Amino acid sequence: MLSAILDQLKPYRAKLVAVSKRRTIPEIRAIYDQGQRDFAENRVQDLLERREALPADIRWHLIGHLQSNKVKYIADFIHLIHAVDSLGLLQEIDKRAQAAGRVIDCLLQFKIAEEDTKYGIPDLAAAEAMLGSAEFSRLSHVRVCGVMGMATFTDDEDRVRAEFRKLAGIFKALKSAFFKDNDRFSELSMGMSGDYGIALEEGSTLVRIGTLLFEGAD
Ligand SMILES: *Cc1c(COP(=O)(O)O)cnc(C)c1O
Repeated sequence: MLSAILDQLKPYRAKLVAVSKRRTIPEIRAIYDQGQRDFAENRVQDLLERREALPADIRWHLIGHLQSNKVKYIADFIHLIHAVDSLGLLQEIDKRAQAAGRVIDCLLQFKIAEEDTKYGIPDLAAAEAMLGSAEFSRLSHVRVCGVMGMATFTDDEDRVRAEFRKLAGIFKALKSAFFKDNDRFSELSMGMSGDYGIALEEGSTLVRIGTLLFEGAD
């Protein structure tokens, strides 16, 4: 399944983040042995346990909600934090990154689904307020590399497409307002097992796939 997915991503030059939550170590290891190096968990505790049990050259992504008090456990190794949704969290990541002697890459998570989800920045205006603030300008150990979002879980493809398009629009608006000359602001993390085809068509650069990768037929 891995190579079939990678073949689908190639024309879009998108990258695969293998979502390993709820998988066993041998299952993850099998995907690793096929060459995959980017893996994601949605809980800090699981991330720490898996990291311990698996090869050191894995790039670990956190895709779930992150509580400020847990940043310290991942600051010295995390590759990309996908779900940053507040200035307070960014400030904590900055502080812990500085202590670890690193700059940590982050994505801003937006609420794009119609359904009521707890987490995510509500809209472009809220992100503009955050990125335009004096507090944000003082942060030197976080690098905002793009945006992330999850579409509504539905068979309605038009709706999913509209939500991804909305996120792509937010990405473009932030890029031109705040990151014009910053090549690092380049990631549009959208698309999961059920909707990554649509996400790719709408400009995704990073798809987060679990179920299809681990359960799909070869
Ligand atoms: C679980 C999860 C995924 C992967 O979902 P699948 O449907 O298993 O591919 C992607 N993104 C986030 C944020 C997740 O929690």
